[in-house]
This record gives sequence, structure tokens and C-alpha cells, in this order.
Amino acid sequence: MLDLAIIGGGPAGLTAGLYATRGGLKNVVMFEMGMPGGQITGSSEIENYPGQAEIVSGMDLMANWPEQCQRFGLKHEMNQITSITKNNDIFNITGVDGKTYEAKSVLMATGSVPRRAGFKGENEFFGRGISTCATCDGFFYKGKEVAVVGGGDSAIEEAVYLAKLCSKVYLVHRRDTYRAAPSTIEHMKHTKNIEEVTNVTVEEVFGDTSGVLGLRVKSKETGEIRELPTPGVFIFVGRDVLNAPLKQEDGSFLCDTNEAGEVIVDLKMRTSVKGLYAAGDIRIDASKQVVCAAGDGATAAVNIIEYLG
Ligand code: NAP
Repeated sequence: MLDLAIIGGGPAGLTAGLYATRGGLKNVVMFEMGMPGGQITGSSEIENYPGQAEIVSGMDLMANWPEQCQRFGLKHEMNQITSITKNNDIFNITGVDGKTYEAKSVLMATGSVPRRAGFKGENEFFGRGISTCATCDGFFYKGKEVAVVGGGDSAIEEAVYLAKLCSKVYLVHRRDTYRAAPSTIEHMKHTKNIEEVTNVTVEEVFGDTSGVLGLRVKSKETGEIRELPTPGVFIFVGRDVLNAPLKQEDGSFLCDTNEAGEVIVDLKMRTSVKGLYAAGDIRIDASKQVVCAAGDGATAAVNIIEYLG
């Protein structure tokens, strides 16, 4: 019987593993199919992790985290967890290979992944001018023009954020009405250096070996093609929360989630189910930053130790 099963090996899961084992829990397993480190290992430049004097890659930032945790006894099981159920205070966990585990407590730290919009050049230039994180990458385009693709709360909030750093922001949306909250739209409309480019489809992001040079959009009304000369393109077309293991046989989730499938937690990272915690990008109101996910993981572990005690 595991004291704690941590599902996911990104910053939240690893930090929870560190705090849980260093805090005295003996039988803690982190389930992560691939190499621990999480999504951030795909980022080429990180300069906002506190205490980091140099700009480092996500891979370098995360390099020592697993070893640090393992020193205190965290075990890593390379298995993808497909289902979690609860019976009589015990969690039953099943892996993709059919192997089953029992645990007294579970931390969900599987995160979420930004959706791709599906236009030409998107994969080619991802990380070389195309980004899904304005807080992480906006600073690289200080004083330059950028484009934001999407029409939801994320796109509009991030367009306003980028407008403070960049000389101009093109807000590119496939319709002429937005999904975002009216107050957010109002704020955007009063931001002078945002130009709305609506009712268009993105035909292509183009560039060369140095990265993105711009994007081509096509008017849905006239078919006219326009080129936006931006070295940065930010895509916010929704996120997929990696909550599949929480799905029960009847289609409901093991714990309460919001409409977007994000797990509802309190300030101790407790879910609506006793002994089940969630940390990092899978939870509601996540800031989607490594430092925040790590903080969540530590908070969850401290409270799991208290719960098991
Ligand atoms: P979202 O609300 O699902 O919006 C996605 C946007 O991307 C939509 O405008 C959609 O266009 C567009 N889109 C989708 N696929 C596309 C494609 N292939 N090509 C071009 N455009 C595409 O996603 P979100 O903005 O990430 O928000 C997710 C949830 O979090 C929402 O419930 C949102 O309210 C919430 N949220 C809240 C806050 C806040 O309260 N401060 C902040 C951020 C997010 P259509 O409109 O035409 O479908």
C-alpha cells in the first residue's frame, strides 16, 4: 500500500515528491511514463525562475529535480495511469499496462496542454517565434510587433498583457465576436496598440532559419490575403486538461471539476474527495508557471502529510 501516489512528473509532482519524502512519508511513488520534468522541458529559454542568474533551457532548469527527490526516497514508476477510483478510503490506481496499485492518498499533477490551432508552419516554428505563454516569452518581443490568435479570455487577457510590452499587438480571431468576458473585451478595445483582425483564418506562419517573420491571414468575407509582419505569434485557442484518469465508469469525474475539466481545489490543494489532491496546471485558476506549480506541489505535500498523520 502506497502512502502517496503522485500522478505526473512535472514541477508540481516532483516538488510534492520532494516535500513528501523529506517530510517523512516512506512509500511515495511518482508515476510518469516519460522523463520527469514536465512540459517546461520543451521551452528553450527560461529567465523568470527565481534565483536563476542565467537564462537556461527548460531541460537544464529541470535536470537536477528528479535526483534531488530520489535522494529522499521518492520512487519513479514508468507507467501511465489510466484510472483512479476510491473504495473504503483506499484509492485503486490502474496503469496502461493493467498493473494495479493501492494508495492511501493521491496527488493529481498531470497538468494541461495548450491546443494547437492547426495552421501551416505552426509545428515548424513552435518555440522559434510561436509561443503559448505570454508571461514566459512576451519579454523577448519587447518593443516589437506580435500577433495573438484566439478569441477567448486567455487570448484577450494575454493580448492586453502583451500590449504593455510590445509596440503593437494584432488580435487575430476567426469570428467577429469574442467568447471572453465583456469587461475583458472592453479593456482590450480601449488598448490603443491592439489592432483587431477578425473574421479571418490563419493561412500560414512563415519565416526562415532565424525564426518567424510573420503570418498570412485570409478574410472570410472577401478572400483577401493580408500579411502581418510579426516575429512573435502567440496562440491561445484553448487548453486540454489531462484529467482522463479521474473519469469514472459512469462518465463522471472522481472529484468536482469546473466546466473546462479543471479540478476544483481549496488553498490546501484538497479536492472534493478526502485524500485526493491536485496541484499545478490541472487545478482551477492555475497561473501556468513552473514556480507556481512547484509551490502547489509543496503545499499539497505538506497537507497530505498532515492528512495521513
Ligand atoms: P476558449 O474559451 O475555449 O477560447 C478559445 C478561442 O480560440 C475561441 O475564441 C475559439 O474560437 C478560438 N479557437 C479555437 N480553435 C481554434 C482554431 N483551430 N483556430 C483559430 N481559433 C481557434 O479558451 P481559453 O481562452 O483558453 O479559456 C478556457 C477557459 O478558461 C474558458 O472557460 C475561459 O473563460 C477560462 N478563462 C478564464 C479566465 C478568467 O476568468 N480570467 C482567463 C482565462 C481563461 P471560437 O470563439 O470561434 O470558437
